[in-house]
Amino acid sequence: MATGWGSILRDEQLEEMARQAVDRALAEGVLLRTSQEPSSSDVVSYAPFTLFPSLVPSALLEQAYAVQMDFNMLVDAVSQNAAFLEQTLSSTIKRDNFTACLFDIHKQVLKEGIAQTVFLGLNRSDYMFQRNADGSAALKQIEINTISASFGGLASRTPAVHRHVLNVLSKTKEAAKILSNNPSKGLALGIAKAWELYGSANALVLLIAQEKERNIFDQRAIENELLARNIHVIRRRFEDVSEKGSLDQDRRLFMDGQEVAVVYFRDGYMPSQYSPQNWEARLLLERSCAVKCPDIATQLAGTKKVQQELSRMGILEMLLPGQPESVARLRATFAGLYSLDMGEEGDLAIAEALAAPSQFVLKPQREGGGNNLYGEEMVQALERLKESEERASYILMEKIEAEPFGNCLLRPGSPVQVVQCISELGIFGVYVRQGKTLVMNKHVGHLLRTKAMEHADGGVAAGVAVLDNPYPV
Ligand code: ADP
Ligand code: MG
Repeated sequence: MATGWGSILRDEQLEEMARQAVDRALAEGVLLRTSQEPSSSDVVSYAPFTLFPSLVPSALLEQAYAVQMDFNMLVDAVSQNAAFLEQTLSSTIKRDNFTACLFDIHKQVLKEGIAQTVFLGLNRSDYMFQRNADGSAALKQIEINTISASFGGLASRTPAVHRHVLNVLSKTKEAAKILSNNPSKGLALGIAKAWELYGSANALVLLIAQEKERNIFDQRAIENELLARNIHVIRRRFEDVSEKGSLDQDRRLFMDGQEVAVVYFRDGYMPSQYSPQNWEARLLLERSCAVKCPDIATQLAGTKKVQQELSRMGILEMLLPGQPESVARLRATFAGLYSLDMGEEGDLAIAEALAAPSQFVLKPQREGGGNNLYGEEMVQALERLKESEERASYILMEKIEAEPFGNCLLRPGSPVQVVQCISELGIFGVYVRQGKTLVMNKHVGHLLRTKAMEHADGGVAAGVAVLDNPYPV
């Protein structure tokens, strides 16, 4: 079983199973727009997924769920601690222009005074399963996504596909073990709660969308849940906000003349997504009293630099005073994280990474996959950065080594074959705060993504990982 389900099939059966699985995926709505036509739904295809669910130890699944409310509280605490954010990011913003631009908006909003009173976090904490020397596995956090955490919509549709595959193989008992999952419903409930607390019956949800959005069906799942609760969503780009968005004297946000209660970002997490005009639009949104998901401070709380500082002794205790159990649960999921700020500590980390490159990952302050450096590339970068202050815009992380297993990655146009894979588990978290009171804090589902072992980096959108389901063992 450790090699997965592939061994139960002969190669010719694999092809037939893949055809059935793909047809079921299409029927369930596990869809992406194509890379040729990313702005239109005229022609769509299935989102890549595994033929079989991948085995995940149920204890690790439970651990990941149990620590999610702690992560929600932690992110929320960081976002409210301006002094911690300023100190943590001070060296990074000198060398990383994108983080500096975000931080600049944060400072401007603080200076003017925060008009927003209701706060909404929709995040996803991602983990890999580290192989221990004794053969067991440990849950180690890769990162937490505090902006545009995606695939909550499609993840609710993949369980039916894997149940179908197992049922076709007469593995009915196994099929029944695949967990139901509906993150988009939970995410929508968070947005609905924030909308309700904003307290204006005619106000809308504004989804900040990209012009070219292949993952639209994932977003539509949330929009549909909101509409079912009579909450209307409009999709607009940053460009539309700069043309038609405005604030009134109470800093209420209006778009095309309609009041906006909640701004939900599915754009704005990468430098390439911001023109000077888009930065202006982001500032306008941040200055408003609308609920931003996330607000700028919460986006900053999700940077790799903050993640690294959180692992420093005493920081969790400072941010979550009087909550030793939460602190212990959080710390248990931390991998080794190392600052590259100028000084002895950073020098030491660089020396260790150069001495054992296969045990480290070099990460810039970026989201969206494909930005990290490994192996020889990491060595070259470290040699180049070693003496320069630019190194402070990166962090070093211990590389997690998981036990590979066999599965088939189904993608349009790719051959059906069993390859060696590793998985990454994400747990979706939702919280809502009104003033100082946390009125909602929960986990709302999971996402398993699986990729071929030879790829060091990469998510689904980056074209490396595919959607999967945990098969609890
Ligand atoms: P991004 O914000 O671009 O998603 P991540 O930190 O999630 O950045 O890294 C991208 C991918 O790189 C992850 O999905 C994972 O596959 C791989 N990765 C990141 N950190 C590690 C690590 N410490 N050990 C092993 N693989 C990692
Ligand atoms: Mg990631």
